[in-house]
Amino acid sequence: MNQHIFTVSEVMTKKPKPSNDQLQFGRYFTDHMFMMEYHHQKGWYDGKIIPYQSITLDPASMIFHYGQTVFEGLKAYATENGEIQLFRPEENIARLNRSNERMCIPEIDPELALTAIKELVKFEKDWIPDAEGTSLYIRPFIIATEPYLGVAASKQYKFIIILSPVGSYYEAGINPVKIAVETEYIRAIKGGTGEVKTAGNYASSLIAQEKSLANGYEQVLWLDGMEKKYIEEVGSMNVFFKIDGKVITPALNGSILPGVTRKSVIQLLKEWNITVEERTISLAEVEEAHREGKLEEAFGAGTAAVISPIGELACKDENLVINDRKTGKLAKKLYETLTGIQYGRIEDKFDWIDKIEL
Ligand SMILES: *Cc1c(COP(=O)(O)O)cnc(C)c1O
Repeated sequence: MNQHIFTVSEVMTKKPKPSNDQLQFGRYFTDHMFMMEYHHQKGWYDGKIIPYQSITLDPASMIFHYGQTVFEGLKAYATENGEIQLFRPEENIARLNRSNERMCIPEIDPELALTAIKELVKFEKDWIPDAEGTSLYIRPFIIATEPYLGVAASKQYKFIIILSPVGSYYEAGINPVKIAVETEYIRAIKGGTGEVKTAGNYASSLIAQEKSLANGYEQVLWLDGMEKKYIEEVGSMNVFFKIDGKVITPALNGSILPGVTRKSVIQLLKEWNITVEERTISLAEVEEAHREGKLEEAFGAGTAAVISPIGELACKDENLVINDRKTGKLAKKLYETLTGIQYGRIEDKFDWIDKIEL
């Protein structure tokens, strides 16, 4: 298993670490990074931990022109008794490889990818913040590096992992957000790339995000690309509605990103004997439920925020205020259970936690 042993070169001088109250999302980076090369005649090779640094690329590198790239996002958590744990990392790696397949990027051995993540996190363990709700965000990504202007799959790639200490998403407790339904632009369409984590999805969504920010909303609610009738996602989170006691989330239909948080929420709801339906859900159904007083809660789910309650949903002709703009009971319970498991305060019944051996 020679390929699993990475060479390490350490920085001479370490950077000062941000204090807990300086932490934001994705602004600070640790002292080291992981990098591995791919060449079509060699496969993946030369995995190494090196000082965090700028990378030099040929301006003809295919990533710059045709956007052949994929990424992932997960977190490492420090527990109260000094352990470091990851939450379902095998799910992120499996998704990375599904993204690779869609984007014609060569597969990475899942065991090799997990080892790289764990080795780097362990090497940078002093960077894991320990205040309530903080964590070390892990961003693995792959870029096409062959210098060639033809439209084709690159023959060379770099797999890089960078780490960023991040603050609690909620400064003053879990807080409902204002969401605007996007009726002009679409995020994804079946057969496109919406179900994988590739840069183009996010680049094309910026215009709607900017528009909603300018109008005083925090995120957009995406509708399906064909009829603009059915609900898909909220910002870069999966979305759930609690209507008349049941929980409904859009089914994975080929244009929705299969979130690890989404999957975990569904498993928890089933464990709690709460009816959860994965199916198409139209905006009209949500509006009608609201009119009838049956829309009890709505929330987004994703790694960054964990659970993000929706307090207000701006539709074309009406503004739906949900649960009095307060965090719902179910959203709160899901948030506390997921973070409880992630930080080792609640028993990990589902075997979701992967501890890093120190
Ligand atoms: C990453 C992402 C999610 C959430 O996935 P998690 O695995 O739960 O973090 C949802 N939607 C989009 C568009 C995403 O990029």
